[in-house]
Order: sequence, then structure tokens, then C-alpha cells
Amino acid sequence: VLDADEPLDETELAIEGALRPASLAEFVGQQKVRGQLQLLLDAARIQQRPADHILLSGPPGLGKTTLAMIVAHESGRALRLSSGPAIQHAGDLAALLSSLTPGEVLFIDEVHRMARSAEEMLYLAMEDFRIDIMVGKGAGATSIPLDLSPFTLVGATTRSGLLPNPLRDRFGFTAHLEYYEPEELERVIERSAAMLGVDLPAASRAEIARRSRGTPRIANRLLRRVRDFIVVRGGGGDTTTVDAALDLYDVDGIGLDRLDRAVLDALVRRFRGGPVGLSTLAVAVGEEAETIESVVEPYLVRIGFVGRTPRGRIAMPPAFAHLGVSHLDSALR
Ligand code: ATP
Repeated sequence: VLDADEPLDETELAIEGALRPASLAEFVGQQKVRGQLQLLLDAARIQQRPADHILLSGPPGLGKTTLAMIVAHESGRALRLSSGPAIQHAGDLAALLSSLTPGEVLFIDEVHRMARSAEEMLYLAMEDFRIDIMVGKGAGATSIPLDLSPFTLVGATTRSGLLPNPLRDRFGFTAHLEYYEPEELERVIERSAAMLGVDLPAASRAEIARRSRGTPRIANRLLRRVRDFIVVRGGGGDTTTVDAALDLYDVDGIGLDRLDRAVLDALVRRFRGGPVGLSTLAVAVGEEAETIESVVEPYLVRIGFVGRTPRGRIAMPPAFAHLGVSHLDSALR
């Protein structure tokens, strides 16, 4: 329930939507990216043109969709939402691009998962606001040029390394979103708690922040589980309540969830600290390699629990310590 990339049901989606900051000023953290985006948007407004294309990269739940909405909102433009997996043919993209209104902001989530033929069409569209539509097959095939309304593409990706260079080069600005510091997450939680009408002391907000894996989406989700706990079981929002609620949902003392711990456990116990290849690790925990690589691993690397080497993934000393396994125990197994 608590993974950052887990699908939300409709009620949760509505709540998540309501908690989204609507302007750059309300957007917590990512100070550098905010400053850069502000300049980009101001320049476009002064020159009365659509803003340059923007690429947002970083792990799930750090605010890429939110920033795309803010770009549209702050520049007073309409927003169209799509995603790479929904664009499996060049024709899907042609239909989308040709229906944009002048200046519209087009958000493509998981832009690295678009079909190759669509990618190639997008190069020309981004550069010249034009596409070539192929009609017919074989020797009789002809291409018909089609002019598009100028637009701003906001692409989001958890894996910027998978984007072909020609596509990456056509974005005027690339922002790498970083994991949030606990103090920043405390501010996210404070804001969301006020909107949800949950009264939480500062120590409880800090505790949730500390266990949110540097991710605002997780912070908001943990906050909602704590709120549920208070609603059902009563009691104040003190840290004992927070502990009880988060324990119930299998979030450990440093915020790792079931899947994080399964990966660590396999790495430390089963593969004796590694090195082990990504696909072997994925099979061992019964998950997609892509999920391990883009959702689980980045945070474990960031907190120094997992290392990436040319021969595979290795467990670092803090991972052994967290699982209560000594290096020696692991080597003897
Ligand atoms: P994904 O790529 O998985 O869709 P994302 O990076 O697009 O994730 P968002 O959907 O933008 O993430 O953000 C998730 C939630 O976290 C939103 O509900 C939003 O309210 C909250 N959030 C994200 N960033 C911030 C922020 N900087 N300040 C306040 N809330 C934030």
C-alpha cells in the first residue's frame, strides 16, 4: 500500500490531487530547480511565447507531475496529460500533437517508454512544430507534412539514461529531482495535515518525515494512514500513535517497506552480500527488474545500503547492521 509507485484507488487519487501544490511558491524543497523553472517561465511570459521543453527526471513520487501542472498553471496555459506506455504507435502521437491548442503544455509521463517510431516523430515536432505523416505502404508511400500549434513538452522519466540522446538534447532544460531532506518533508506534512484537518505535534510530523524515504508522496500517504489510525482507534497524534500506525503498515524505523526489506534480505542473506545481477535479484524477490531498479534501489543506494558495481549489486555494511546480520554470519551460510 505504501510503495511510491503503487496505483491509488479513486478516493486516494482525489486526496492526492487536492494535496498538490498549485504554484512554485507552494512547492516545498528543490530550491534550485524551482529557481531555474521560475526564470524559464518568466522569460517565456515576457516574450509571449510557450516555454522551452522541460525534462524532469528522478524517482517516483518526488513531484514531477505536480511540477508539470504548475508549469501550465503559472503560464496560464492548458495542460494535456499522457504517458509513454499509452503512445505505442507514431499514429497515437500524431493524434495527440495535432489536437493541441496553441501554447498548450503536453505532459508525457514515463517518456522513456514511448514507441521508437513515436520518438522519431517527436524530434521533429519538438524542434519545428511539424510532423510528417506517412500515407500508404511500399513504393507508393508518401509523407504529408502537417504543421502543429507551438506547445511546451514536459517529459518525466525515472530513467533519464534510457532516453536516446537526440530526444534528450531537444529539451531546453533538464531538472533532476533529488530526494527531500526530512525538514522539507516535515513542511510537506505540516501543509497536508492542515488541509486534511489532522492535528499533529511537531515531533509526530518529524517522525513521519523520517520514515518517508525522502519522498513527498510517501509522506502524504503515511500521514493518511496515521490519520486513519487516529480516526478509528482514537487517541492524540503523539509519536506512540505514529509508531503504532506505521508498524501496522510494515514501515520500519527508517521507513523501509516490505519490498525494500525483501531486496536487502535477499542481497544480504541469500546472496551473502553479493555481487548479484539485477535480474537474479528481481527473480529472488518476485518483482520486475524495472521496479527494483527505478523504485527500490535508488533510495537504498542513496542511504548507503546498496552499492552498484560492474559485477552486480552489493550490500554495504549499514545494510548488514540494519538486518542484524554480521558479515561473518553471512559468509558462513
Ligand atoms: P510519478 O512519476 O510516480 O507520477 P511524481 O514525481 O510525478 O511521481 P507527483 O505525483 O507530482 O510525483 O507527487 C506526488 C504527491 O506528492 C502529490 O500528491 C503532491 O501533493 C506531493 N508532492 C510532491 N512534491 C511536492 C512538493 N515539493 N511539495 C509538496 N507536495 C509535494
